[in-house]
Amino acid sequence: MNPQEDLQFVKQTYERMSDEELVRISTTDAQGFTPETQEIVKAEVQKRGLGANIVDGMKAQNKPMSADDFDALGNLARGLDCPACGSSAQPLNATLTAEVQSYIFLTRYNKKLKVACPDCLDKASNKALLTTALLGWWGIPWGLIRTPVALYRNFKSKQSNRLEETNNYLRAFVLARVGLFEAYKHNKEKLQQIISK
Ligand SMILES: [Zn+2]
Repeated sequence: MNPQEDLQFVKQTYERMSDEELVRISTTDAQGFTPETQEIVKAEVQKRGLGANIVDGMKAQNKPMSADDFDALGNLARGLDCPACGSSAQPLNATLTAEVQSYIFLTRYNKKLKVACPDCLDKASNKALLTTALLGWWGIPWGLIRTPVALYRNFKSKQSNRLEETNNYLRAFVLARVGLFEAYKHNKEKLQQIISK
């Protein structure tokens, strides 16, 4: 295919998508889009009247963001209600929980970035620590290998649960969803959904 035919193919692909899928791809899966593809997606989003914010979300995944703009998204996340307890009394942050559960030859290792208020983050860290300490070891060999690693991760991430500023886990969380945060920065309800997942 020559480049013109390629672009025609790209255009048809986006034209065939449902609104829902077009929004999802633009806000979560647009990293690495060429400028030509971005123009095609932008035109399709505009044609359907899906909102300029969706185009902003796509662009945010394809350009370096200034430190100030990125901090603003982090602060926006911090100002939301805690997805675990609903409180807005304390600014939110994030933690990494690592949980190991073993059943002799089967070892499950779950890592999760969780956004919540400091109290709920501590609860999540403690639960992961306790579960892993009690149930992690009983697997051969992975229980024995993964349990100390997970315990260390939980101890380490717990240390920044009560940081006064945006911690690195919340930065990582926002960075991985920068298109969504940019697209929905004026939509609190949608942001609440994003941090609850
Ligand atoms: Zn909470």
